[in-house]
Amino acid sequence: MFIIVHNKSIVGEETALKTKNVRNFVTLIVLLIIVVLFVPACDIEYYVDEPSNPDIPGNLDVYFIDVGQGDSIFIRTPNDNTILIDGGEADQGENVLNFLKELGVDKIDVIVATHLHSDHIGGLITVIENIDIGSIYMPKTTHNTKTFEKFVLSVKQKGLQFKPAYAGVDIPLDDVDANFVGPEKKDTYDDLNNSSAVLKLKYGDVSFIFTGDAEKESEEYMLSSGQNLRAQVLKVGHHGSTTSTSEEFLKAISPEYAIISCGEGNKYGHPHKEIIQLLEEFGIEIYRTDRDGTIHVMSDGKQIEFK
Ligand SMILES: [Zn+2]
Repeated sequence: MFIIVHNKSIVGEETALKTKNVRNFVTLIVLLIIVVLFVPACDIEYYVDEPSNPDIPGNLDVYFIDVGQGDSIFIRTPNDNTILIDGGEADQGENVLNFLKELGVDKIDVIVATHLHSDHIGGLITVIENIDIGSIYMPKTTHNTKTFEKFVLSVKQKGLQFKPAYAGVDIPLDDVDANFVGPEKKDTYDDLNNSSAVLKLKYGDVSFIFTGDAEKESEEYMLSSGQNLRAQVLKVGHHGSTTSTSEEFLKAISPEYAIISCGEGNKYGHPHKEIIQLLEEFGIEIYRTDRDGTIHVMSDGKQIEFK
């Protein structure tokens, strides 16, 4: 286009065109200077608001709350989804609720009641009565206790319905993979510990496995199912009892860290010394709520940090 204009032009027009070109060139240089001086500042502001990797906008926080003899685990995902696995005994409900309030949590998106023993569902009653709940997962079992009755009532009064937890069920979350790897799908379960909902949580390269009180029978099922059980962080089954954590199961998980949730001087002798020895043989770093209190684990999807 420019060449055609040049061919047709006379000398006067050509000079005017050259002057115009010089002016355009100067304008371009000025614009370039403005871009060089100001755009980097805008750039910095942009990255402050939005991290450079949109897939990993924040941290995953996992708290193994000290509830004495029992389990209670609170998870806050990078996009602020909240999960509560178990709530300790009924008398720990206030403790768990206060812990959540201190963190500024006003809604639990997902509750997982691993199984119906009181040291897992007892404390959930107070939490359910006092805080908004999105959904609740539980294995398809029943238990003839007052604690279970109260628990069911608290869920009904919230207008919630139990969602069944068994291997293959995924919890729909937008930033982490949360799927149950146990128990085996059945109509009902004879043994409560082995009915435990076992949740695997994956964020980036980092995985956690929360086993409730699953014992060797359920571990054998999980091993035979061919599911990927690998996780850097293992919540040790059944408070470190010898009923759980077979060598084969531990090998399949290959954790770097083991968390044992139990009460100081508990009557069951948890954690059993055989399990501590086994974890030590595998070179796994052990954390215990009876000694360390509440354990806070943080991850950016690549690294794991204990607070
Ligand atoms: Zn238990």
